[in-house]
Amino acid sequence: AVQETICAHVKQAFGIETRTHAGLAWYPRHGLNMATLLHRARIALTSAESSDQGCVIYSPASDTGLELERELTTDLAHALDKNGLTLNFQPVVPMEEAGPCVLEVLARWEHPEWGMISPETFVALAERGGLINRLTRQVVREAVGQLARWRSERIYPHIAINLSPKDLFDDTLPAFLARTCEAARVSPECLVLEVTETAMISDISRARLTLKRLRRLGVRVVIDDFGTGYSSLAHLRQLPVDGIKIDKSFVTSLRRGSSDSTIVRVSIELAHSLGLKVTAEGVESEYIESRLEEFQCDALQGYHICPPLPADAVSGWMLGNALRFSEGRLRQQRLPLVDLVTENRL
Ligand code: C2E
Ligand code: CA
Ligand code: CA
Repeated sequence: AVQETICAHVKQAFGIETRTHAGLAWYPRHGLNMATLLHRARIALTSAESSDQGCVIYSPASDTGLELERELTTDLAHALDKNGLTLNFQPVVPMEEAGPCVLEVLARWEHPEWGMISPETFVALAERGGLINRLTRQVVREAVGQLARWRSERIYPHIAINLSPKDLFDDTLPAFLARTCEAARVSPECLVLEVTETAMISDISRARLTLKRLRRLGVRVVIDDFGTGYSSLAHLRQLPVDGIKIDKSFVTSLRRGSSDSTIVRVSIELAHSLGLKVTAEGVESEYIESRLEEFQCDALQGYHICPPLPADAVSGWMLGNALRFSEGRLRQQRLPLVDLVTENRL
């Protein structure tokens, strides 16, 4: 019927008989926004043209993108079965006061056919494919295991783990973390969890509950990608968190010659006035580092400090830097990178 209507319109408008092909996508069944609907209508249209059918309604089977997604999701599930993710660790270095070096855990997946898949891509796949809780748990298990190995080498970093929004609504996560830490004889106080504010405000009362339970274990929680969500300032006071991590999009814009540092400066002041610690990610130059120091940012992370490292390069980096600091070549206050002598409380 739709096809007939379209043909009739064309005939009326141009006075000619035509053969038409149409691809259809329904809201909301095939997409919730205009971009997705158009994309999928185009896929249906291509399928109508190639099969010379008048009208084709979008179906996942005609969508090679979706087929690929399904395939990749299956591969990711296999990779998770076989502990097939690897972890990189990127230092978050305290600016002033004595504090341990925190290593952010960044997951990597090398697909046998497609090579390295970006974490944004496979984390999104895991979220859509119902695998995210498994992914998070694997990252936690591996990272806590690695922490225990470092301890046996007398190196005592803390680790920061990225959580996905869905993890905040996983009621069994706090108990899982407690069990995993206990099994590895690692104190939960060595753990930081990074959660985006969008995750927290999607269901603020439930998020508050999970965050409280997590913090009761001794785990610290920081708001990741701070500044990119909607109501950061309004909600900051209500959220039981220890700190914020200013998104790199704001930090990299502190580059020399750029006049706009207001967001970064004000975020730091605001967070401090609420008793929160501030980390800046995306520190790509000496210049950015000195601006952040001027703003009294508490900790720094970025390619200029150190890129993400494979686990076996971490101890070398930490030891090398501890020596560099003690030789006073870098700022003295950055000395306590590694708690090399005093072991963390367990
Ligand atoms: P994120 O949490 O914002 O992590 C920081 C990202 O910035 C990392 O990218 C890191 O490699 C990159 N980066 C570090 N220093 C600099 C710098 O100086 N300049 C710039 N431009 N970038 C820098 P990566 O490793 O590709 O991770 C991307 C995102 O994937 C992460 O963003 C995080 O949201 C997500 N992700 C990674 N691992 C996990 C995981 O285990 N679980 C979850 N849920 N998400 C993860
Ligand atoms: Ca992060
Ligand atoms: Ca970020």
